[in-house]
Amino acid sequence: MINLELPKKLRASANQAHQVAAQIFRPISRKYDLGEHEYPVELDTMAAMVDGLSDSGTQKISGASGGRSDDEKPSTDVLLNANGGNMSALLNALETSWGDVGLMLSIPYQGLGNAAIAAVATDEQLARFGKVWASMAITEPSFGSDSAAVTTTAVLDGDEWVLNGEKIFVTAGQRSTHIVVWASVDRSLGRAAIKSFVVPRDAPGLSVARLEHKLGIKASDTAVLLLQDCRIPKDNILGSPEVNVEKGFAGVMQTFDNTRPMVAAMAIGVTRAALEELRAILTDAGIEISYDTPPNNQHAAAAEFLRMEADYESAYLLALRAAWMADNKKPNSLEASMSKAKAGRTGTDVTLKSVELAGAVGYSQRLLLEKWGRDSKILDIFEGTQQIQQLIVARRVLGKTSAELK
Ligand SMILES: Cc1cc2nc3c(=O)[nH]c(=O)nc-3n(C[C@H](O)[C@H](O)[C@H](O)COP(=O)(O)OP(=O)(O)OC[C@H]3O[C@@H](n4cnc5c(N)ncnc54)[C@H](O)[C@@H]3O)c2cc1C
Repeated sequence: MINLELPKKLRASANQAHQVAAQIFRPISRKYDLGEHEYPVELDTMAAMVDGLSDSGTQKISGASGGRSDDEKPSTDVLLNANGGNMSALLNALETSWGDVGLMLSIPYQGLGNAAIAAVATDEQLARFGKVWASMAITEPSFGSDSAAVTTTAVLDGDEWVLNGEKIFVTAGQRSTHIVVWASVDRSLGRAAIKSFVVPRDAPGLSVARLEHKLGIKASDTAVLLLQDCRIPKDNILGSPEVNVEKGFAGVMQTFDNTRPMVAAMAIGVTRAALEELRAILTDAGIEISYDTPPNNQHAAAAEFLRMEADYESAYLLALRAAWMADNKKPNSLEASMSKAKAGRTGTDVTLKSVELAGAVGYSQRLLLEKWGRDSKILDIFEGTQQIQQLIVARRVLGKTSAELK
């Protein structure tokens, strides 16, 4: 049976992440929104802290490291719940994103590629790549949503893989120390031949072509990467090099079961930030939000607030469920997509509605509300858009294959 009561250990680590968000991220949030592509030097302090924490074997500060819960012993309580790596990473991602999601995506050693490594690496690889900062490079100029359309190739040449292709919109693509790259080992075999490879930043043939200017998450670098006869060691392939046509590309897709709840958590963090700000504004304006009176008998803004808070709660619970399932080794693709769809939509709805309800000040740069409105949109796009999540949910619920429901 599912038990979403948070154990003390997780509450302590989430609280620590919240302190980081409040004391380090919030004060510099606007600075790096205005100074796009400026390196947030304050994060170097965090890198040292994260390093210290992982050395000491305690919880990590932030988010996207999540996923590996093999060494987490299931708790011995009567319900036999294991709240491990995914749940911890989810809560930390939520708290740090409450502070600033662009900065959260820039925390050293906590990239989306780290979650991919944690999800599919062998124990030997995990030891080797334990202390890397890995970004995730799937998207190419010719596709975004259709992850099966990878054209980047990887050819084995002696003891090395040789990679060729172009990857676009790579979050932390310039700052990370490693990049997890999706490439095909044999394009004639279709999606089953798509594998992920860990490419070190200094690998010969890898270069950053440019950085993107964006609507939001400006503190996060988004890079175009070129792989031109890029050589990496043979054992930097994640998972098995065998191409199993029966299994399709389930191996690499497994990554999303871990990363989608994390992105949901980021959206939930930004949503909570906006709701807290809005509550303060409404309270200042003398508008009472009552939990004892039906919404239709309250001020219209209070009724909107209650509706948005209910959306926030359901997004939060869906994300907890998806992470709990991952920690408890239950297949969670459906729940991961449900959580991301709900949280992504809620994030954009709530932040923009909060800008609206706050009036002119909500649109101004005096507050961070307008920034959260811009930042939240990406959380409904990357790691699979709103439409793609709904498609996955529909396929699972209706029992249709990807060929039957496109
Ligand atoms: C700031 C930023 C950071 C990013 N970071 C990363 C990263 O770190 N790594 C990475 O690999 N990628 C990254 N991306 C890329 C991102 O994952 C893609 O943009 C996303 O998957 C959508 O792909 P697309 O932009 O090509 O849109 P398209 O796939 O062309 O889709 C366009 C629109 O059509 C809709 N659509 C597509 N197919 C269907 C369908 N079958 N049914 C209904 N609607 C459909 C989509 O939902 C969308 O609204 C990032 C993008 C941005 C903007």
